[in-house]
Amino acid sequence: DARRSDTLLLWFDGELAAADVMQAPLSTHALHYGTGVFEGIRSYATREGAAVFRLPEHLERMRKGAELLGLRFDAALATEATVQTLRANGHRDAYIRPLSWFGTGATGPSFGLDVSPLTQHFMVTTVAQRVHLSGERTRLTVSPWRRNPATALPPLKLCGGYVNSILAKREARSRGFDEALFVDEEGFVVECTGANVFMVRNGQVTAVEHRDALPGITRDTLIALSGAQSRQVTHHELLDADEVFVCGTAAEAAPISTLDRREFGDNPVTRELAALYARVVRGEEPGRSAWLTVV
Ligand code: PMP
Repeated sequence: DARRSDTLLLWFDGELAAADVMQAPLSTHALHYGTGVFEGIRSYATREGAAVFRLPEHLERMRKGAELLGLRFDAALATEATVQTLRANGHRDAYIRPLSWFGTGATGPSFGLDVSPLTQHFMVTTVAQRVHLSGERTRLTVSPWRRNPATALPPLKLCGGYVNSILAKREARSRGFDEALFVDEEGFVVECTGANVFMVRNGQVTAVEHRDALPGITRDTLIALSGAQSRQVTHHELLDADEVFVCGTAAEAAPISTLDRREFGDNPVTRELAALYARVVRGEEPGRSAWLTVV
């Protein structure tokens, strides 16, 4: 029984395998050029066992990225791989990472930029994750870096695109902050390195909208739960808000304590919405169970 084994199992090209023995060749195209697409998904322990939150929506976003790159993608197979991997590892509260990528040429390395002759691969790995403690608050700073513009690189979870987020994260951390906020040339807020942005002013919840931002599934969920309006927001408006929070599959809904020198005080609206989200993902809100895929 794989569940009782200590070995972490992952899904690789059609079957479960021991994670510690799987390897990719050093000439893997995705390693050199970032030619892959991934997802970040969560499962939670519910009364009915482990359940994946909004799995079809995550896989649909992955399909879009795969289509753009020319990678084959089978959502039914990806669903099966996700369920099998969670079951095999006995994971309930977990982070799920599917990845699809270009490998090598048929007979060896192929470093050209035409991906059509390359091998294609698909994996799913799951990592047991303790329940996110949204007690910690995040110190945010405006990044000197611009977000990848959608006209150059569409806001999908393409591997190479994340170098942009990593540069911004490194720079923010080097100045003692937790997280970077991307703002565009006109002063409109885009998103954070791995999360979307919301603000609360006079009790009104607003989701930041921007064409260069990843269309977040947590963002969509929180709009549905709060009735938030979605619109473009300037950096100035954000500084003027009563509460700011960021959201993503991993971050859930995380309050912002400071944005550069602006300090935010108590955050009752964020707290309440984060608590509602926590109940929804655990299947404790009856009207929202359609978002869960029970494993
Ligand atoms: N923006 C970026 C750049 C991200 O990487 C993520 C995490 N996937 C998000 C926003 C939030 O998206 P989601 O709520 O779908 O996880």
